[in-house]
Amino acid sequence: MKSKKEEDLTPMMKQYYQIKNQYPGTILMFRVGDFFEMFNEDAKIASKELEITLTSKPLGGGVRVPLAGVPYHAINNYIAKFVKKGYRITLCDQVEDPKYAKGIVKRDIIRVITPGTLFTTGVFDPKKNNYLMCVVKNENNYYMSYCDLSEGEILTSEIDNTNAIAEICKIEPAEIIIRESDIELLKFFSNNFKGVALTKYEDYHFFDEECESLLKRHFKVHNLEGFGFYNRSGLKIASAALLAYLYETQKGMIEHIRKIRIVEASKGMFLDDNTIRNLELFNNLHNNEEEYTLVWSIDSCSTSMGSRLLRNFIRHPLTDKHEINFRLNAVSELFENSELSGQLNNVIKGMQDLFRLCGKIGLRICTPRDLLGLAHGLKKIPLLKKLLKDVKSDGLQWIYNEFTEDMKNAADKIEQAIKEDPPSSLKDGGVFKDGYNKELDDLRILIKDGKDWITTLAKKEREKTGINSLKIGFTSVFGYYIEVTKPNLKYVPPEYIRKQTVSNAERFITPELKEKESMILNAEEKIIQIEHRLFDELLKDISSYLESIQNNANAIAHLDVFLNFARLARDRDYSKPVITDENIIIIKNGRHPVIEILKKRSEFIPNETEMGTSEDTFHIITGPNMAGKSTYIRQVALIVLLAQIGSFVPANEAEIGLTDRIFTRIGALDYLAGGLSTFMVEMTETANILNNATLKSLVILDEIGRGTSTYDGVSIAWAVSEFIIEKIRCRTLFATHFHELAELSNKYKNVKNYNISVKEWNNEIIFLHKIVEGCTDRSYGIYVARLAGIPEDALKKAKVILNLLERQRKGIDLNQDKLSQLDIFQLNLDIDNRYQEIIKEIKGFDINNIKPLDALNILCEIQKKIG
Ligand code: ADP
Repeated sequence: MKSKKEEDLTPMMKQYYQIKNQYPGTILMFRVGDFFEMFNEDAKIASKELEITLTSKPLGGGVRVPLAGVPYHAINNYIAKFVKKGYRITLCDQVEDPKYAKGIVKRDIIRVITPGTLFTTGVFDPKKNNYLMCVVKNENNYYMSYCDLSEGEILTSEIDNTNAIAEICKIEPAEIIIRESDIELLKFFSNNFKGVALTKYEDYHFFDEECESLLKRHFKVHNLEGFGFYNRSGLKIASAALLAYLYETQKGMIEHIRKIRIVEASKGMFLDDNTIRNLELFNNLHNNEEEYTLVWSIDSCSTSMGSRLLRNFIRHPLTDKHEINFRLNAVSELFENSELSGQLNNVIKGMQDLFRLCGKIGLRICTPRDLLGLAHGLKKIPLLKKLLKDVKSDGLQWIYNEFTEDMKNAADKIEQAIKEDPPSSLKDGGVFKDGYNKELDDLRILIKDGKDWITTLAKKEREKTGINSLKIGFTSVFGYYIEVTKPNLKYVPPEYIRKQTVSNAERFITPELKEKESMILNAEEKIIQIEHRLFDELLKDISSYLESIQNNANAIAHLDVFLNFARLARDRDYSKPVITDENIIIIKNGRHPVIEILKKRSEFIPNETEMGTSEDTFHIITGPNMAGKSTYIRQVALIVLLAQIGSFVPANEAEIGLTDRIFTRIGALDYLAGGLSTFMVEMTETANILNNATLKSLVILDEIGRGTSTYDGVSIAWAVSEFIIEKIRCRTLFATHFHELAELSNKYKNVKNYNISVKEWNNEIIFLHKIVEGCTDRSYGIYVARLAGIPEDALKKAKVILNLLERQRKGIDLNQDKLSQLDIFQLNLDIDNRYQEIIKEIKGFDINNIKPLDALNILCEIQKKIG
C-alpha cells in the first residue's frame, strides 16, 4: 500500500519519482516550464557542482523538497560541467505543449548523458575525439570496440594481453563499458584507468544471440559475414554491447552509426603509452598541454575533420610500404602542384564538420542552421571533385572517386527548403522558404493580410476619432491593443473596451481587433506546427544520405591532411622520405620538428644520421649536458614516425627502414602516485624494451642507470646495451654520460660512437649542437652548473674533486694526495676570502686625508691580518 506521504505528492512529483526510479545512479534533470529542475539529493549536488542556488518548495507529502534549476536554453553547458566531473545525467523533457496538456504535461527521457556519450558543440575540442569503449576479454586477448558518438563509426580491434593497456591508453576513451559479472576485468580497469568512467553493463547485452540480432537489425543485414569478425566473436560482442548502450542512452536516435571497421592493432606501428608521452606527440612533459608537441607543430589543417584524422594518423603509424606510399604520393602530387593545392585549400578552408553534422542529424539535435551549414559544406564537394579531375596519384584518385554526385541533391533539398538566414531553433517559425509548402504559404498570407488590416485600422481609427497619437501595439500577454494617451481619453468612442492602464495612456480592444488577433495567433501557431513537421520530414529525407555524407567527409578529411602535409613540405622545407624494407635510417640534415619552430629556423643546427648501412645499428651518443643529445635522438624517432604516417619529414633527404615499434626510455620522473621510484620507473621501461623490441624496432635511450650509484648504473647500462646489441640487434640510439660505454665499439662491429661537439674558448664552452663520429670523455657538467647559477665556491670545489676522481680512475694512487689536495683547496679558499676583505679595506682609504702615522698603523694591522 502506498504511504500517506506518497499519495499526497503533487501529480508532477509522482511523475518525477516514477522516472527517477528508472534511472538510478544518474542525476535527473526534469523540465518544468523554462527550467530543468533537480530535486532532493540531486539538487544538493547540483548546487555544489554547478554553483547554483539551492532552494526548497512544498511539493506535496507535507515536506519541503530541496530544489535547484537551470534555464533550459543553457542546459548543454550545465550538462557538460556535470559530466566532466564524472556524473551521469538523465535528461527529461516535456514532450507536449503545456498549453494543450490535459492534466499533467507529458514528459519523457530524451537521453542519458555519460562521459562517453557527451556530445555538445563548444564543450569539446573539435579537433579531438571523445570515445566510448566496450571491452571484453578471453584468455589471451582483449576485444575492444569504440565509437565517437558524434562521428558514427564503430572501430573494433583485437589485441593480445600484453599490449592491451598500451592500446587502450592510446585511444584515451572517456568511458569504458564492462560486463557486469566480469569482476576481474572490472577490478583490473578500476586499478589501471583511474581517470576513466567505468560502466558495469548487464550481462544479457553480451549474449551471443542478442548481439547477433542487434547488429543485424541495426545494420539491416541478413548475416554478419561482411563485417570480417570470422573467428573473433569478441569483436562482435564488444561492438554489439556498445551499440546496445548507445541505443539505451540515446533513446534509439543513432541512425548515423552506419559502419563497423576493424582496426588491426597488430598491423600498424605499435606506440606504447611511454613513447607517446616521451616523444611529446600530443601532450608536453612540462604541463601536459598540447603546446610544443608534435601535433601542435604539424597541425594546420583547415577543418576539424582533418585535425581529428591527423591525430589518428599519429596514433596509428603504418607499417605497410604500399599504404605509406599511397599517402606520400598524394602529398607529393599536391606539393608539386601548388596551384591545385591552393585552389583545393580555398574550397575546404573553414568547411563545416560534416561528420558532426551527421551526428546531430542522427541524434536529432540538429538545428535549421546546422542543416543549412551541412548544405553549404556539401555544395563544395562537386567543386572539389572538379578540381581533382586530372590527378595522378592513387591517393588523390581515391579521394576523387569517393566524392559522390548525390551530395549535390542532398544540398539542393536543404537549400530549397531552409531560408538563407534561418533562426537557430524551430520555436519561433520562419525556417522554411516561401513557395516550399502551400499550406505554409497560405497561412503566411493570412497573417500578412491580418497585419495589414491592423495597420489600416490604426489609420482609420485616427481619422474617425481625431486622436492623432492613437496607435496599435502588441504584447505577448495582452495581444493587440489600441493605445490612447491620457489627454485624449475624452475622445475615445464608446465601442472601445478598456483593457489596461499604463503610465501615460490607456489600452483598449475592439471585438473586430480581437477577431483578427485570434486569426493571426492561430495561424502563427499552425505555422510552427507545420514547420516542425516539415523539419522532421526533411531530416528523415537527409538521413537517407548519412552514410554517403560520412564517406564524402572521410575523403575531405584525408584531402585536408594531405594538403596539410604538402603545406609543411612547402613552408618548412620538409622532404619526401624513401621507405625501405632494409633495416636502415639515413637522414641528411635532419631537424627536430618542434625545436626548430621554437628557435629561429636559422639557429637550429641540422644533423646527419646513418644507421644500418654498414651494419652499425647501435649508436652511443656522448657529449655535455645541453649539447643536444636528447633533441637529436628524439628528432630521429619523430622523423621515422612522420615518415610512417605518410608525411614528408624535416630533413633534406631521408631513407627510412620500416619500423614496427618505437621504444623510448627518456627522462627520470618519479611515479610516486603509482608507488614507483625514479629508478624503478627507469628499469620498468627498460625491461619493456628488452622483452618486446624486435629486429625491426627503433629504440631511443636517454640515459639508463642514472637513478642508482655510478658503478651500479654503468653495469646495468652496459648489460642492457649488450643485450640489445647481441640479442635484439635493432636500431638503437643511446645518449649517455657513461663514457665507459664507448668501449663497446671495440667489442662489437655494429656499435658506433658519436658525440655532440662543443668548442672550448676563453674558459667558456660553445655548444655546436653538431653530431660527429667518436666519443668524448668530458661531460662539462661543472660548466653547465655555472650557467645554472651554482655558487662559485661550490664550483671550485667540484673542480678539485673531479680532478681527483679522474686521476684516481687513471690508476694514480691518491691516498695521501687526496687529503692534501682537498686541504690545499680549503686553504686557498679561506685565503681568497681574507684577501677579498683586505682589498676592500684598502680600497676604502682616503689617501689624501690620512696622516702618515695613521697610515703606518693601518699597515701594521694589515700585516697582522695576513699573519
Ligand atoms: P642534452 O640532452 O644534451 O642535455 P638537449 O637535447 O636537452 O641537450 O638540448 C638542450 C638545448 O639545446 C635544447 O633545448 C635546444 O634549445 C638546444 N639545441 C639542441 N639541439 C639543437 C640543435 N641541433 N640546434 C640548435 N639548438 C639545439
